[in-house]
Amino acid sequence: MAATDWSKLTFSYTKTSTILYCKFKDGVWGEVESHTDDNILLSSFAGVLHYSIECFEGLKAFRGKDGNVRLFRPEENAKRMQNSAKFLGIPAPDTELFISMCRQIVKENLDFLPPYGTGASLYLRPTLIGYNPQLGVQSSKEAMFMMLCSPVGAYTGGNLEPCNAAIARNYDRAATFGTGRYKLGGNYAASLYSLNIAHSKGYKAVLYLDPATHTLIDEFNSSNFFAIKGNKYITPLSDTILPSITNKSLETVAADLGMEVERRPVTVEELATFEEAGECGTAVVITPISYIDDKPSLESEEYTRYRFTETECGPKSLRLYKTITGIQYGEIEDKFGWCIFVD
Ligand SMILES: *Cc1c(COP(=O)(O)O)cnc(C)c1O
Repeated sequence: MAATDWSKLTFSYTKTSTILYCKFKDGVWGEVESHTDDNILLSSFAGVLHYSIECFEGLKAFRGKDGNVRLFRPEENAKRMQNSAKFLGIPAPDTELFISMCRQIVKENLDFLPPYGTGASLYLRPTLIGYNPQLGVQSSKEAMFMMLCSPVGAYTGGNLEPCNAAIARNYDRAATFGTGRYKLGGNYAASLYSLNIAHSKGYKAVLYLDPATHTLIDEFNSSNFFAIKGNKYITPLSDTILPSITNKSLETVAADLGMEVERRPVTVEELATFEEAGECGTAVVITPISYIDDKPSLESEEYTRYRFTETECGPKSLRLYKTITGIQYGEIEDKFGWCIFVD
């Protein structure tokens, strides 16, 4: 890619040199295949297409200040994918295979790894699908594990530009004893209708509540919620939230910076007491929240507004953001041993 292109990257797909995949059949994983064609051949009756037998991961590779290429906590992604696959009842790659394919995809696509200083990175998308043709409703016997990548910039375009959000009181992304804590494509499908309504009303994100009582904050459609109150980092405790690796890392960094960390149920009313609020996830690390509107329904024009910032990221969120990204780009000592080198 031309050097000038890196700054224009958003979170969208750019075709790279190769994709990798391997198949699980008759109880074993086959050879890892590398292909320049990003189309795959799949039975029209594959379980992924009919019963959403699919889970995925997202992590990034960074070109560091020292020239080294780092992956951020890939073993956490491997473990989470194994959890998701267990829920779906399909075979999952072990951690060793997962990480070796992460390394291989980066090495084969170094031309698409953004240089240090651009703020961009190479996003990896490990994807696991039910592969064999089937009609009956059952967990797929065969699976295909794909390792895909695409260079990405800041998720929304503007780095640390605050986003607004609306609370969904009349839609849930996941059921009480359901799929919320697994990284399934199906959860995203289930959130699109409410996300589209929110977009049509001028909101960037939807904040979902606990599906049982709709009184507690769960998370956004694709990222966790956190807030800052005095010297505290607060994030919701709930069984219907996806366990974000970014959130877990922010908790560790916050504690290390001398903040108190609270993971506990958070009520909607408590929003009024927070000085900063944000979204967190791999794609963005942190997106500050400008305001959150609590509406009787997403379609309604009525709202109670909780305001956090007008234009810029709050100071505590910014400090956390800089620490995490500093570790990822090799600018700050990796004292928790989070990064692994690609070579
Ligand atoms: C992937 C994801 C996140 C963020 O997790 P990270 O590990 O930090 O990238 C948050 N919420 C949902 C629903 C997700 O799918």
